[in-house]
Amino acid sequence: IAVIGYGSQGRGQSRNMADSGLNVIVGLREGGSSWQKAIDDGMNVKTIEEAAEAADIIHILLPDETQEKVYKEQIAPYVEAGNTISFSHGYNIHFGLIDPAEDVNIVMFAPKGPGSMVRRTYEEGFGIPGLVAVERDATGDALQLALGMAKACGLTKAGVLETTFQEETETDLFGEQTVLCGGITELINAGFTTLVEAGYQPEIAYFETCHEVKLIVDLIYEKGFAGMWHDVSNTAEYGGLTRGKRIITQEAKDGMKTVLKEIQDGTFKKQWAEENATDGANLKEMRAAQEQEDIEIVGARLRKACGLQKDD
Ligand code: NDP
Ligand code: MG
Repeated sequence: IAVIGYGSQGRGQSRNMADSGLNVIVGLREGGSSWQKAIDDGMNVKTIEEAAEAADIIHILLPDETQEKVYKEQIAPYVEAGNTISFSHGYNIHFGLIDPAEDVNIVMFAPKGPGSMVRRTYEEGFGIPGLVAVERDATGDALQLALGMAKACGLTKAGVLETTFQEETETDLFGEQTVLCGGITELINAGFTTLVEAGYQPEIAYFETCHEVKLIVDLIYEKGFAGMWHDVSNTAEYGGLTRGKRIITQEAKDGMKTVLKEIQDGTFKKQWAEENATDGANLKEMRAAQEQEDIEIVGARLRKACGLQKDD
């Protein structure tokens, strides 16, 4: 198995698969920042072209926006009939950016969590849940191959669900845009700025609207909504149940529907491609603007003072 890329997912997944006894080659660009890291971790490291040529299964764990170009130029020339192309996100296959030959399997296995957690839970003797999908079964055993890799990665200890490239891609984009990344940061920041604009101390506002989110989410993660409502005070339960729907209104849900539509009809894919064509000019601007948000400045100071912020 050639694992192309040694970032968040590549590092976690390739080490797990190697420790499970699979013959793993890590394919990287020579001189890139992860080349030496993979060697230091004891991995078998080759160039992307060498790894793709040597392997039967090519598992692509590069950033999604780079996969099309790297695949066409450095991987496709070495793909043979009966090989398997594998991913942890369906984006490039679902949107037609990568289109392997008909005699090649196309599969996915995707951990439902970041690479550091994929590795840590494996070392603890368990794993995190994941998804498997087969877009094309050219050899008749594509699902077994995907399940085998998921198992070697530790995912089947927690459990895997079968999905399709379409379902995984569209739900993954929707989740990160509306709830996980986009939704939660806007919700937190709206609460924070409402308190600060009303004259409350930013430090108090930060603890109340940002820091404590983790404590509540941990309860929901472990015990569901009911378990969370049970653990908070009756006052919090009554206040939350009567006020929450005034915040996430029909307008917010209509916004979610529009965002989903833009994912389904290719509007988002087109915008993201245009953004990458300009080398992420808007993205860089938005990153810089986020850093200047009061909540980020106050938060950084508080996390440092409380010893909460860990370095990568
Ligand atoms: P990363 O951004 O962490 O990948 C970085 C790796 O890609 C490095 O090894 C880097 O090499 C290499 N790389 C980047 N650009 C190029 C390039 N142009 N040519 C060659 N190598 C390149 O990616 P992730 O791990 O976040 O994501 C990988 C896949 O996993 C994606 O499909 C993603 O959607 C999916 N996924 C990610 C999750 C996550 O939590 N991050 C969760 C589930 C799925 P170098 O050091 O040389 O720059
Ligand atoms: Mg996701």
